[in-house]
Order: sequence, then structure tokens, then C-alpha cells
Amino acid sequence: MPAPVTAYVALGSNLGDRHAHLAAALLALAALPATRLVASSAVYETAPLGPAGQQDYLNAAARLETGLAPHTLLDALLTIEQTRGRLRRERWGPRTLDLDLLLHGETTLADPRLTLPHPAMLARAFVLTPLCDLAPELVLAGRSMAQHLALLDRSGVRPASV
Ligand code: ATP
Ligand code: CA
Ligand code: CA
Repeated sequence: MPAPVTAYVALGSNLGDRHAHLAAALLALAALPATRLVASSAVYETAPLGPAGQQDYLNAAARLETGLAPHTLLDALLTIEQTRGRLRRERWGPRTLDLDLLLHGETTLADPRLTLPHPAMLARAFVLTPLCDLAPELVLAGRSMAQHLALLDRSGVRPASV
């Protein structure tokens, strides 16, 4: 088992009972082997990317301490998505649950299954807003997460009502 690292996961849902999907995902993350769910962000409601006519997303982020290797953790995230009934149809179409691995310690890699850090994270206010609840000072590409977020249009992101 590799030494534990800090990993960050982005959670999103825009189909069905969105709050329930996020809550179940957090429980499932906490139950992963060799993994501790250390913190989770507030929940935000955000305008969707991709095909028109979709419901708004709920987005959140989680910090894990995990001994799972990057691909093992990715497979676990995809399995959790499946257990919430995710069907893969059109790219960026509506989904019950999307779990993206943003960062896995200092790992950088790009293979057909996994790219780390997640290639779009720094360009997405719906990812950086919850991530900044957890790690505003974390530096990537020469700037903190809070600095990256300040460069983005945040108008589509608002706190979710419960
Ligand atoms: P985006 O990645 O732009 O947010 P998406 O989340 O809608 O798009 P999916 O259909 O959920 O994309 O995932 C497609 C594939 O992306 C997954 O099967 C997985 O193999 C791959 N992938 C590559 N890097 C990552 C990562 N860091 N986190 C999650 N999936 C990744
Ligand atoms: Ca995604
Ligand atoms: Ca995904």
C-alpha cells in the first residue's frame, strides 16, 4: 500500500434527487478502503455546461487522505457513480452523479483513463468554488486556488438551498 496522500474529489449532480446523490457519494467516499474523508465543502448550485435544457447542478468537493493509488481511486469513483444509477450517454449530458479526481497528492499523469491534475479544474468556477472552501491556499500552476478562482466568471455559482 503506498503512503497516504491528500486527494481532492469534485462532486456534481443534475438529475434526480441531487442532494441525495451528493450525500450518498460522501458516505461512499468515507467507506472506501484505506481512505479517510477529512472534509467536505458547502454545496453550490451552478449553471450547467454542455447541451441546453438541463437542470442546474449541485456541486461540492471533498478532501480525502488515501492510501489508494490514483487508478484504484478512479475506479472506485466510477463504481460509486454506477451505484447511483449513472448512465453514460452524450458528453456533458445530465447525470445523477459525476465524481472527478482533481488531485492525488503531487501526482501528474496523463494516460487514456486518467489525467492528473484534472485538466479542466482551473477553468471551472463550479469546481474551484467548493475547492476553495477546503484548500484556498493550495498552489497549482503558480497560483493559489483562490487566485485562480478570482480570474473566473463566478456568476453561475451560488450557494444551494437545502
Ligand atoms: P470532464 O472530465 O470534462 O469533467 P466528464 O466528467 O463529463 O467530463 P466523464 O464522462 O465523467 O467526463 O468521464 C470520462 C472519462 O474521463 C472517465 O471514464 C475517466 O476514465 C476519464 N478521466 C480522465 N481523467 C480523469 C480524472 N482526473 N477524474 C475523473 N475521470 C477522469
Ligand atoms: Ca466532470
Ligand atoms: Ca467525470
